[in-house]
Amino acid sequence: YDDRDGVIWMDGKLVPWRDANVHILTHALHYASAVFEGERAYGGKIFKSREHSERLKRSANMLDFEIPYTVDQIEDAKAEVMKANGMTDCYVRPLAWRGSGPDMGVASEQNPVRMAVAVWEWGAYYGAAKMKGAKLDISKWKRPSPETVPSQAKASGLYMICTMSKHAAHAKGCTDAMMFDYRGYVAEATGANIFFVKDGEVHTPKADCFLNGLTRQTVIELLRDKQIKVHERHIEASELEGFEQCWLTGTAAEVTPVAEIGDYNFEVGALTHDIAETYEKHVRA
Ligand code: PMP
Repeated sequence: YDDRDGVIWMDGKLVPWRDANVHILTHALHYASAVFEGERAYGGKIFKSREHSERLKRSANMLDFEIPYTVDQIEDAKAEVMKANGMTDCYVRPLAWRGSGPDMGVASEQNPVRMAVAVWEWGAYYGAAKMKGAKLDISKWKRPSPETVPSQAKASGLYMICTMSKHAAHAKGCTDAMMFDYRGYVAEATGANIFFVKDGEVHTPKADCFLNGLTRQTVIELLRDKQIKVHERHIEASELEGFEQCWLTGTAAEVTPVAEIGDYNFEVGALTHDIAETYEKHVRA
């Protein structure tokens, strides 16, 4: 995967894919001082491109560093690397991090902040689950309190428990894992937000300790446009049993139905299909 054709935008230059390396003493590799984005381009246009670039800048600020590029420059970088790779429908991965330099300990005031943008083709994130519904494990890890981590940042360090949760899920034959938060409320999956349907109304966890996804926000708007009631609230574990439908939202996941969470089953029903289709049309509009 390292040894392939294509180019990656790195610190203002396009470099061959196989040469896009960093030094082993990169601060981010040791201390997780990195933030990133996940975006999708449809027909040559990145959905909510500017919002993603703005979130990248904000995530860096939440980790106490400044990306040395403006939102406009980040927009140009994404367009440039897509064009150079001849891609119109792809996943876009900007990454910003504290690099290597005189600081080798925890502090990193003197090391340069670096940035890269890679693009690649990425089909359905959950594969076949996109059609028949994902099977979710229940993770043993909890989303931490916003007093413990900068939970609204899309920060690499916050994914440590996601990778472990997802591996545990795969080992049990599941597609992904659902995580509870530090209080025991339903939170999200390892890389996507979660929604439930009951009696024709939609319920989704209040985004007060996890990423308030751009897809989540879009889907809430699309549902409200359809005059469907959406409740953003704390959801107890005991409520899982009573929900009829469930789906995940995320840039990579788009709208993916959920068929099972632990011992609970959900119907891949009409509203799930409807919102998945509406989202698909919306991103291409
Ligand atoms: N939660 C987590 C942990 C994620 O990684 C993502 C994907 N970025 C999301 C939620 C959904 O965010 P978005 O809709 O902005 O892609």
